[in-house]
Amino acid sequence: MDRVHLACLCGGGPDRTRIEARSSTPARPPSKASVLALAVICGAGSALLAGPAWARQGADSPKAPAKPAGAPSPEATAAREEAERWTKDDFMKSAGGMREVMKSFAGKWKFKFFAGDAIAPRPYLLAGQESDVHPPEETSREVGRVLEALYARFYEEYGKPCGIKPLEVPVPVWIFMDKGAYEKAHKETPGFAPLSSEHVGGYYRGAAFGITVGEGEDADVRSSGFLYLWNSEDLEGVAIHEGTHQLMGFNGKSQAFRAGQSPWFQEGIAEYWAGYEKSYDVETKKYRFEIGRLSRGLVKQRWTHARNAFQSDDPDQQFTLRGLLEFGYGDFAAAQAAAYTEKPDPKASLKVGLVYSQGWALCHFLNQALQAKYRPGFLKYVREELDGTGGAESFAKCFGLKSEEDWERMEEEWKTYVVQDLRKQVRALERR
Ligand SMILES: [Zn+2]
Repeated sequence: MDRVHLACLCGGGPDRTRIEARSSTPARPPSKASVLALAVICGAGSALLAGPAWARQGADSPKAPAKPAGAPSPEATAAREEAERWTKDDFMKSAGGMREVMKSFAGKWKFKFFAGDAIAPRPYLLAGQESDVHPPEETSREVGRVLEALYARFYEEYGKPCGIKPLEVPVPVWIFMDKGAYEKAHKETPGFAPLSSEHVGGYYRGAAFGITVGEGEDADVRSSGFLYLWNSEDLEGVAIHEGTHQLMGFNGKSQAFRAGQSPWFQEGIAEYWAGYEKSYDVETKKYRFEIGRLSRGLVKQRWTHARNAFQSDDPDQQFTLRGLLEFGYGDFAAAQAAAYTEKPDPKASLKVGLVYSQGWALCHFLNQALQAKYRPGFLKYVREELDGTGGAESFAKCFGLKSEEDWERMEEEWKTYVVQDLRKQVRALERR
């Protein structure tokens, strides 16, 4: 059961640059009346909706059905209650506004929207594709419970330590009936569904719109976007990986976009989180996901690759610690472009694969190796990446690397951990 999101472009490519350039247009100052204001730039469209307008749009739409002269029918009552539910507080008004934007963005493709209910826990806004085969309620519920667990763990892990506040804005997710239905949407409306499902099991399209959080001088415009998922065998794993990108995106600083963010970290942490074990808590009636585990999929896809790289005598077969940290988004995009063609360049394919494998291995090492001595430094580094100040220099600061010897020592510890310690964990997993 391979997870196929290797080409996790996460909104990369030339299209992204264009959208980012537009996203960096100064947003209108948020209204005082609104705690949060949202500016949406539809990727392919031209609509720029400022927050208060968006919230108003949510408040006005959909129209509550007109009251009949006699007693209202149960359907009319249910429709009115549903309409009222979407306007009952700031979050639901924003979700209502976002829903209208998403409807126009999706065009001819029909979705059913869920927010603030048993299917879509806050802050998610789920759009499940209408279908007779897989009811949107079912697929959305499945995605909702994974994202709910991810969100809870993400904030447990990084909330206080990294100063991340809970999101009060709707976090939008498209859920397609299946891969075929997604591909059809991609072929017919690439502006709406920009990536082919050929190399990916789902993706995060960053920088699709901007959100403004806070007011006045504290207002911070962030670049955020949509998650695209479809039914597959590994829907949960993909939802966790891509959903981690989305939470990083929504919590990142405004003008950072890709500058000051590192491919090894962004992909590594998403893979680190995607190694999960799921259990059901009968008391809360919710699923709980233990992250950072070695799953069989990760062993096959990431650990084996990272170990082989470290054991190779050929320096081209692996990144050094510093080399991995200095491999930026420009390099990554170029390698991806050369790797995902009809005639892939083997060196580029290797580099892309190593960003995932060695990135995952580095996150695993920094969180768990040597009695977790690097974990406090890792939490500091998460903040740097969110602030767009990631990179080798801030890495050295967070982990107290002052000399070349310090760098070499950490690199040796990292390699030893992957080749020896993780091997023991892999053996234990294989015996289970
Ligand atoms: Zn990814």
